[in-house]
Amino acid sequence: MPTSEFQLIDLYFSRLGAVRADVLLGVGDDCALLQVPVGKQLAVSIDTLVEGTHFFPGVDAESLGHKSLAVNLSDLAAMGAEPAWVTLALTLPRVDEVWIEAFCRGFAGLATRYQIQLVGGDTTRGPLSISVQMHGFVDPDKALRRDRAKAGDLVYVTGTLGDAGLALLTAQGGYNPGNQSVFLQQRLDRPEPRVAVAQALCGLATGAIDISDGLLSDLGHICDKSRVGAVLQQAAIPLSDPVTDYLRATGDWSIPLAAGDDYELCLIVPADRRQQLEAVAQTLDVPLSLIGEIEAGNGIRCLDDAGHPVAVAREGYDHFRKP
Ligand code: ADP
Ligand code: MG
Repeated sequence: MPTSEFQLIDLYFSRLGAVRADVLLGVGDDCALLQVPVGKQLAVSIDTLVEGTHFFPGVDAESLGHKSLAVNLSDLAAMGAEPAWVTLALTLPRVDEVWIEAFCRGFAGLATRYQIQLVGGDTTRGPLSISVQMHGFVDPDKALRRDRAKAGDLVYVTGTLGDAGLALLTAQGGYNPGNQSVFLQQRLDRPEPRVAVAQALCGLATGAIDISDGLLSDLGHICDKSRVGAVLQQAAIPLSDPVTDYLRATGDWSIPLAAGDDYELCLIVPADRRQQLEAVAQTLDVPLSLIGEIEAGNGIRCLDDAGHPVAVAREGYDHFRKP
């Protein structure tokens, strides 16, 4: 049983993830000392997960360790950056070693897989909250920014949409997916950040965002920043079997179009790079689907099979929205 904050740090956080040559000084001093490769830009992003807001109290600690890193890796992927270093600010209600060990296992599994080293952080007592800051490298002209989309560009998404949203609805008692519940729960608890896809498409895609708040909301951010609109073909939205079953039963398209937490990527690609992009897509282990295109104007139109606009509430999750 660690008797102090410092023992806790030494036991669990001083050697976590990969060991990298560009970490000149890691956990243990006032600051970490890190070497950015010559000619690269540093991409930095932070996300906080709060118990009761981002995850249910009592959620499996290993999944939480995985997810807290995964959501940050997803942001880095959406910028086209190669992950390198991570810091972790952990607020814990008590020292529960079984919990901390499981959390670290989930966190370290993903960190090691992507050659990421934990280089510092902060450990405090209080209501359970996890802040993870990711650092990565990006070539100066290759970052996948939100403000570069142009009319005529193509809109692609990775994977399938709505799985995490359906898992959440199921957990809240609003749906019974039968024998698909394990798959859905996995999609909610263990998102796979699309780092490899983003790296492979850097130089072809000109923009990207990760779908954390729902497709319409997140693509909406690209449209707003780029001062353009978009038109989507509803039938082209990639769906898993359970979401297809759910739609057949309910017709509720808000799950794949507006529910969050999938951590798939939405990518913007100039139309003349379509063939090149689809050739690269063949080599990836995640499907890439063409779902629509950027157009002049503003807002997102979603069309059904007959080409008629469908109305879907597009709001993603907003912590400060007035009720
Ligand atoms: P300080 O008081 O100078 O902020 P701390 O006692 O908070 O130092 O941390 C001591 C060292 O341990 C620092 O190098 C810090 O980055 C690291 N550290 C603390 N908590 C964590 C954590 N949860 N994960 C990784 N490193 C941590
Ligand atoms: Mg500190």
